[in-house]
Amino acid sequence: MGIELGHLQTLEPLGERLCLDFCNTVEREGEVIVQEWLTSYTNLVAWSQSTQILTAEQGDLLLQAATQQPAAAAEVFRTAIALRAALYEIFSAVAARQPVPSLATLNHQLVLALPHLQLQTAPAGFAWSWAEPGLALDQMLWPVTCSAAELLTSPDQSRIRECAAPDCGWLFLDLSRNRSRRWCDMETCGNRTKARRHYARSKQAQD
Ligand SMILES: [Zn+2]
Repeated sequence: MGIELGHLQTLEPLGERLCLDFCNTVEREGEVIVQEWLTSYTNLVAWSQSTQILTAEQGDLLLQAATQQPAAAAEVFRTAIALRAALYEIFSAVAARQPVPSLATLNHQLVLALPHLQLQTAPAGFAWSWAEPGLALDQMLWPVTCSAAELLTSPDQSRIRECAAPDCGWLFLDLSRNRSRRWCDMETCGNRTKARRHYARSKQAQD
């Protein structure tokens, strides 16, 4: 079965955390979605493969399972979009130093994800891993959910930022020493915003 990676290949992981990259599968202008990368369960699997939370083989098996259970796959896709919206609201509020809206969706997903966590031995001691997920159609949401909970409970939550470009809405961790990073990507949003401001200023000067 072919996987429509196509447009997903233009998505660069910029957020430095899985949960932020998951939120960055859409571009927003205020409340309005201006570009959407996750348009189907197939796309969700392709994104999960591109971020390596699913292997190519796991992804192919899930796509086969999804064709057997299209209604269940569609439900997982709706859940993923709802989780993404909830995470964006939380991270965006954290970035803006605003009160965080409901944690209910995230907490609900945690209840579903956490039973699949297990300990395994690792070269330096022990590590968390995921119990053999089999063909659970929603397994890619477990690491995304745990990534969000980990970030929110870590000191790095104070470094969550939302891109300053008005038509982006991407989230990232500001790891700069003086905590001054404003754009998800200087090459795209930074230059675009500056060019737009320059245009507005020169237009004002002409008017
Ligand atoms: Zn941006």
